[in-house]
Amino acid sequence: MNAFGPPKLTLARGAGARVWDTDGNEYVDLLGGIAVNALGHGHPALVEAVSTQLSTLGHVSNFFATVPQIELAERLLALLGHGEGKVFFTNSGTEAVEAAFKLTRRTGRTHVVAAEGGFHGRSMGALALTSKQAYRTPFEPLPGEVTFVPYGDAEALAAAVTDRTAAVLLEPILGEAGVVVPPEGYLARAREIATEHGALLWFDEIQTGIGRTGRWFEHHRSDVVPDVVTLAKGLAGGFPIGACVALGAAGDLIQPGNHGSTFGGNPVACAAALAVLDTIESEDLLDHVTVLGQKLRDGLAADPRVTEVRGEGLLIGLDLAGDCSAEVAAAALAHGFIVNNPTPSRVRLAPPLVLTDDDAAAFLAAWPAILDAADEARAATGEDT
Ligand SMILES: *Cc1c(COP(=O)(O)O)cnc(C)c1O
Repeated sequence: MNAFGPPKLTLARGAGARVWDTDGNEYVDLLGGIAVNALGHGHPALVEAVSTQLSTLGHVSNFFATVPQIELAERLLALLGHGEGKVFFTNSGTEAVEAAFKLTRRTGRTHVVAAEGGFHGRSMGALALTSKQAYRTPFEPLPGEVTFVPYGDAEALAAAVTDRTAAVLLEPILGEAGVVVPPEGYLARAREIATEHGALLWFDEIQTGIGRTGRWFEHHRSDVVPDVVTLAKGLAGGFPIGACVALGAAGDLIQPGNHGSTFGGNPVACAAALAVLDTIESEDLLDHVTVLGQKLRDGLAADPRVTEVRGEGLLIGLDLAGDCSAEVAAAALAHGFIVNNPTPSRVRLAPPLVLTDDDAAAFLAAWPAILDAADEARAATGEDT
């Protein structure tokens, strides 16, 4: 189906942070399958974990548990560090959001407050929580009573949450909006507001979680304990998986009969996720991500055509003077670099966490020439830069 428009390239293989198209051209992958390929392409630990698990036990129904599933749930709760909790595994981010949305209904309340510019997926439920009108309008009516508030504005949040609110849903950094970092103290204030009204605090860390921002979870930057965390994207390094984690009392809201999945929590996906978590630890990737991310942000900001660079670790967004992100993404591709243009003026980078210093340096060296080529493309179509 023509859901995505024409593909930019047909890719044939990958290794580390590099991919090759079917004509043999090589690219540095600075998008990582949209913050998914945490270990890059073909990482031996991931290949080994998936092949071993598939040849040991590839799928059982959720009438049974498997060892990788139990280990992964325990590991995620330990990494979160917020005490007891329960985990529901899914096959995607959208499904993790769907599970969490259903969980919020089990509070007996139906009102949710979410952020303008937030993105939570494309199922009817996840779309109901996503503000972007272009995505929503063709599919209305959508379920739920959802109030959208400006992201980062604690006063607006305080005004929107009431004693009828089931949950406050926030990304710790907006991903699809082009990497928007909230003001300091915003998440802590959201915690206070949610608690004051007996609402759940739900962080969607599908894009920001699992080392992407240089911490296991971006909300660890502040001292805030959420009730619900949704995860997916980088969790299994490219193998489809999602997780809805509910902490403390929220862990008891879903009971038998309330939700389900045939594939969710399958042992191969869980083994893949365990390999990702092990490798982030054994290769010391959190520190690497922090240091390399700062280098990239500094280098990108050095060009005066870049008006702002944002983000943490290897989740990077930058603003360009003029609506030229499509031209920049096309010019980058022509220069052998895959980047993404989530909005007309914003470019996003979410490369593999294993991106090397050399690959990052090669991109920074090419960056002025990429912007020159984008300027020329704009000039050729007669638009201002
Ligand atoms: C990508 C994303 C989703 C949706 O995940 P899918 O795996 O595409 O279904 C939900 N929330 C956030 C924050 C995301 O970045």
